[in-house]
Amino acid sequence: MKISTTVLGHPRIGRRRELKKAVEAYWTGGLDAAGLAEAAARIRRDTWTALADAGVELLPSNTFSLYDHVLDAAVAVDAVPARHRDLGLDALGTYFAMAHGTATTTPLELTKWFDTNYHHLVPELAPGTVFRAVPDKPLAEYREALVQGHDTRPVLVGPVTFLLLSKAAEDAPGGFAPLDLLDGLLDAYAGVLTALGAAGASWVQLDEPAFTADRSPAELAVLRTAYTRLSTLEGAPNILVTGSYGHLGEALDVLLGTPVHGIGVDLATDTADAERLAAHGPTGKLIAAGVIDGRNIWRADIAAAAALAARAGGDDLVVSTSCSLLHVPHDAEEETGLAPELRERLAFARQKAGEVVAVKRVLTGETPPAAIGPVPDAWRDERVRERVATASHEGRGPAEERRRIQAARLNLPPLATTTIGSFPQTPEIRAARATHRAGRISEAEYRDAMRGEIARVIGLQERLGLDVLVHGEAERDDMVRYFAERLGGFATTAHGWVQSYGTRCVRPPLLYGDVHRPAPMTVEWSAHAASLTEKPVKGMLTGPVTILAWSFVREDQPLAATAAQVALALREETVDLEAAGIGVIQVDEPALRELLPPRRDDHAAYLEWAVAAFRLATSGVRDETQVHTHLCYSEFGPVLPAIDALDADVTSIEASRSRLEILGELREGGYSRGVGPGVYDIHSPRVPDAAEIAAALRKAATAVDPRLLWVNPDCGLKTRRYAEVEPALAAMVAAAAEVRAEL
Ligand code: GLN
Ligand code: ZN
Repeated sequence: MKISTTVLGHPRIGRRRELKKAVEAYWTGGLDAAGLAEAAARIRRDTWTALADAGVELLPSNTFSLYDHVLDAAVAVDAVPARHRDLGLDALGTYFAMAHGTATTTPLELTKWFDTNYHHLVPELAPGTVFRAVPDKPLAEYREALVQGHDTRPVLVGPVTFLLLSKAAEDAPGGFAPLDLLDGLLDAYAGVLTALGAAGASWVQLDEPAFTADRSPAELAVLRTAYTRLSTLEGAPNILVTGSYGHLGEALDVLLGTPVHGIGVDLATDTADAERLAAHGPTGKLIAAGVIDGRNIWRADIAAAAALAARAGGDDLVVSTSCSLLHVPHDAEEETGLAPELRERLAFARQKAGEVVAVKRVLTGETPPAAIGPVPDAWRDERVRERVATASHEGRGPAEERRRIQAARLNLPPLATTTIGSFPQTPEIRAARATHRAGRISEAEYRDAMRGEIARVIGLQERLGLDVLVHGEAERDDMVRYFAERLGGFATTAHGWVQSYGTRCVRPPLLYGDVHRPAPMTVEWSAHAASLTEKPVKGMLTGPVTILAWSFVREDQPLAATAAQVALALREETVDLEAAGIGVIQVDEPALRELLPPRRDDHAAYLEWAVAAFRLATSGVRDETQVHTHLCYSEFGPVLPAIDALDADVTSIEASRSRLEILGELREGGYSRGVGPGVYDIHSPRVPDAAEIAAALRKAATAVDPRLLWVNPDCGLKTRRYAEVEPALAAMVAAAAEVRAEL
């Protein structure tokens, strides 16, 4: 029996976010292309060195990306939309134009990478798309590693997942589906693979995470066709197909029936594939047993992981991570500020590489290291447990009646205008936060700075003529971390950055113990904002599902139990906001869709606890208090019914990048609450004009009763600059007035 070790991918932002700094400097002209290439090469070298030092035997390459690996895959097959190609930019310029647009062109759509907090760009395909092998990047990275002494396994998004993640271009004829392009795409992949083979690569890894979700027989047949063809190519490397974020299930049987050389299974999310493999008997293939969880940060039980790997693997076993380590930070050892009893339970990328090696050692006869002990008693809070056990989320009156009461109280026009909460995080705000953190300005000085900023943002919104104002969230560097820093049961890291999309990185908090709220978290800021204006001010909270989704969460109890604890803490906050005179409270759940499990069988159980947590958080206020929620991202499909079940009075939804499709779907579902489809895309620096927003609003008004329609951007404005925000909001207010006059 042969046993070796690998990881399916690695963090690529650099230990100190060097990638973000380099790419952003390149965008603003502070770094040239050569400087950017150098910074990128340093990150790749550090990655290979770190993995080799940890003792990992089979190293991956092409896991690095300047922006996104799906975008890289699109470029590798030349799937560049005409509007980006026609800009006539160089390769790098075209790449970044696809990623984030230019003043005159929209970027590719951005969406969730499966049920993770990573976002990928969505390739746009049309019947006329002509694929072509452009293997430059994987080839260059393979050769670069080779020079450094590492014969790596280049990693690419698998062709079928690539098509399943793509969308039909706006001008593609109805009835066209990206899967129609399989043949041409396989030709291009064949070109990339044979180029890698010619350069000396003996293996490639093709990631097919789309197959850990339910797939139709037709899609499974496409998988069979694709891998039958690619694994019998003359001159191509051996192929390792992986399925991450769940179990492959029936797709595993399909792959076992093809001549593909290796299969990687995620056994950390679900052990079902281990059973399927054990039942199958000898496969004659390499099996990469993903027993080390690539998504969470808790230390693994090495003995249990070894037993699981042994169950899945046969004669050719590779101990592996369940997915790329993209989703975890670099090194837990750097978190010297954490309590030792917490730090010793953590495994970031560096520790996980070590765990993969430790599992192999156990499989080859070493005694396993001691398992981690039970959670310390000090992390439990009996009072919280008792309150969760008796909590109820009934209590508010029927939605129709609330609408009447709120209309009388708030007295808003139809097509009321508002924003999603955050205003730009200016250099001044960041500087104030940094100097405060460093202890160079006092708490009082910092608070004054934030209050000044709130006053400025309120003044601006009044000038612009918005109807429901916000305080602007200047005090929050991150919508989850802000709350985690104020709740018991959470810890935050100093260097625990993970990539969210492109150059945007976040530091997910660690939710390790029972959650409670020692004191109000947001009331001071919202109350201050409300004191400065006659207009209603919306209080802003992050919802329980999103707080869980964007944290690393304890695994010693069901998510439902943890969500309820977070919800209770938020409920206390809503009650305090209401008591402070705040009449509108928004509880953001941008991650509601993201946590949805990949398999339909698991949807109902998830939605039940997720909806219950949101309702627990929001049902403590009186009927005259208007509850808003905000949901991000396209393709709501399976969560549509849950949107109604949340029982919010108003829901704002990201819709501009996904063409307002959701309104029709909502109408068909009988939705009769307030809805604010995002009328312009805040993810791009492009400033919309009033005419285009008015057109979107007219379209929206045909899908929804205009009295239920709200007008807002599609997400928070924190990543934009005032030079973009002010004209965009002015256009939005003007468009609302124009369409309102037509009613
Ligand atoms: N209220 C948050 C903001 O405006 C919502 C952000 C989000 O949806 N991700 O920034
Ligand atoms: Zn949003």
